[in-house]
Amino acid sequence: MDGFDPEQYDVDFLDRGGTVHDFIDNKIKELSLVVSITTFLYNLVKKYVIWCNNLPRVKPFYAVKCNDTPTVIGVLSALGTGFDCASKAEIQLALSLGVTPDRIIYAHTIKAESHIKYARTHGVQMMTFDNQEELSKIARCHARAKLVLRITVDDSKAVRRLNTKFGASLDSAGRLLQRAGELGLDVVGVSFHVGCQCTDSRAYRQAIADARQVFNIAVGLSLLDIGGGFSGNENFKVKFEEVAATINLALDDFFPVGCGVQIIAEPGRYYVESAFTLAVNVIAKKVIMEEAEGVPDRVMMYYVNDGVYGSLSFLINDPTSAEGSERRYRSVIWGPTCDSLDKLTDSCLLPELQVGEWLLMDNTGAYTVCLATDFNGFEKAHVYSLKTSLHRGTTCTCRHKDVPGLLAAAPES
Ligand code: PLP
Repeated sequence: MDGFDPEQYDVDFLDRGGTVHDFIDNKIKELSLVVSITTFLYNLVKKYVIWCNNLPRVKPFYAVKCNDTPTVIGVLSALGTGFDCASKAEIQLALSLGVTPDRIIYAHTIKAESHIKYARTHGVQMMTFDNQEELSKIARCHARAKLVLRITVDDSKAVRRLNTKFGASLDSAGRLLQRAGELGLDVVGVSFHVGCQCTDSRAYRQAIADARQVFNIAVGLSLLDIGGGFSGNENFKVKFEEVAATINLALDDFFPVGCGVQIIAEPGRYYVESAFTLAVNVIAKKVIMEEAEGVPDRVMMYYVNDGVYGSLSFLINDPTSAEGSERRYRSVIWGPTCDSLDKLTDSCLLPELQVGEWLLMDNTGAYTVCLATDFNGFEKAHVYSLKTSLHRGTTCTCRHKDVPGLLAAAPES
């Protein structure tokens, strides 16, 4: 893959014949840390190819906030994605890894003036807004910016909603466009976000129809940004392919090929969720007795070395259970800090674990390591980027013509 040089990053290589779980085993024997392993290359390239095959009209701008591990940014950059940055630091990171400013959208409607000035001085032009105050700030700090109006859309089908905090109502769009014109600002497009982990593909169709209404009242708009909200987990209740099919139909209906509108998206979770596996250590254990249907039974309380204040704030009470034939117990899993809110799950079914054992959690790449704090002095997870092979001719056939460097990535077995 052109442009991605593993030497530039801290990358481990998987021994021939070894598995990712062998690597994790070795690492956790070596260290008593929380370890997050990313099989970045295989996962990211695979996701990129699936995206291109299913949404050929939509250019992805990866949402850096979701996971800012440099190897992730480096690989996606080499594949040719753009980047959605939400702050000066995220713009700085992307630029420092060689991303050019024309591949960045500053996709936060609430910006500090100093961050807007930073974007201007570093050549980042595209940015979103949803209110008049923001327009005034942009007029003062970056009058030549290319602006994208973020509208509110129905996010009731999302696991995490965003539209009470962000977006302008359709009713207010006309006033905002008029104000932008009075300030001499250049509005180039419309964006929305249907909320994270959207469970109903029809939300995208409705949002695309809503965006069309803004295009109908404004002259010269040329960009539609359909945001994020795509799951990255193959077992999610709505398949990516189904969401993509609904989006493609809606685009054909409301923004047909040849209409002169460029379509972009801001996927975060989609790219990284399945690329990381988190290993947490059981550091303490208590067994309590509870009645279940009138019969006393043992309930396990485990204390692990990562939690709500670490990488796992988004995964609270995710239903978890282990497969296998051993007896399983109702288990409560607590994080390591002194706060009683630091609980990962109230009830999952697990075989009995001993202090010192490790729990491996797959699909932990999204909104995990980037949210970790060192509250109470507990160390953040250490991220190991692991380069696994891609096999020629497996999943890497891409119908989209503009995929730079992909074939160079494939024969690395
Ligand atoms: N774009 C914006 C403006 C966001 O706020 C978010 C997430 O909060 C994303 C993109 C990424 O969303 P997701 O991870 O659901 O794809």
